[in-house]
Amino acid sequence: MRKNIVAGNWKMNNDLPQTEVLISNLKKQTQTSNAEVMIAPTFTNLWHAFEALRQSNIEVIAQNMHFAEHGAYTGEVSASMLQSVGVQTVILGHSERRAYFNETDELLAKKVDQALKSNLRVIFCFGEELADRKSNKHEAVVASQIQNALFHLEASAFKNIVLAYEPVWAIGTGETASPEQAQDMHAFIRRTLESKYGHIASNNVSILYGGSVKPGNAKEIFSKPDVDGGLIGGAALKAEDFYAIVNAF
Ligand code: 13P
Repeated sequence: MRKNIVAGNWKMNNDLPQTEVLISNLKKQTQTSNAEVMIAPTFTNLWHAFEALRQSNIEVIAQNMHFAEHGAYTGEVSASMLQSVGVQTVILGHSERRAYFNETDELLAKKVDQALKSNLRVIFCFGEELADRKSNKHEAVVASQIQNALFHLEASAFKNIVLAYEPVWAIGTGETASPEQAQDMHAFIRRTLESKYGHIASNNVSILYGGSVKPGNAKEIFSKPDVDGGLIGGAALKAEDFYAIVNAF
């Protein structure tokens, strides 16, 4: 079933002591919304975060993983390694992975397969660049990102997939898609899924928006019918701001 989700992507921020401080501040916050709350610390702090949040309703998720089960992939982390430290959800396809680490749709399809095979839930990210939007190609770009990485899956796989639309031009820039732009794209994403998988599957998928979500704009963005939550970068690094967003539902 479709759920409201607010996930904090910490990116490459917070060493262990900083992670301890932020988690202890998060635990002091009060949740008044029904959203599922997740944080994605860096690999080295996942176990600590999992232990520290055992009794809470904050889920600890990972920012990335490798597509292979194990083997000679120096510096990489597998699905089973994530699971062994309590992780049940992984972010895949973030635009920073695509831009700086050359992650292609084909590679991401392999990562998605491995994650699902390993019973991890996937938050699959995609989104157009500014030039795509200016040339009115944003829908075509997003459709092809989704089709190339996900359309080999069976409809039932979407029980374990959350989509995150993150327009690259809105990430870390302070520039947010307007609530109408977000709604239009989310409705388009749902139509794209519906054309392949039918209404029930497409209507049950949660679609998150990411890109400069802040306490001041979250409520309006989340009020849109096809926006089921947010993937939060900068504002997730302050406990009060993050919970102001969590409680914007
Ligand atoms: P910002 O909220 O900092 O724009 O980052 C969004 C993001 O990339 C979340 O994954």
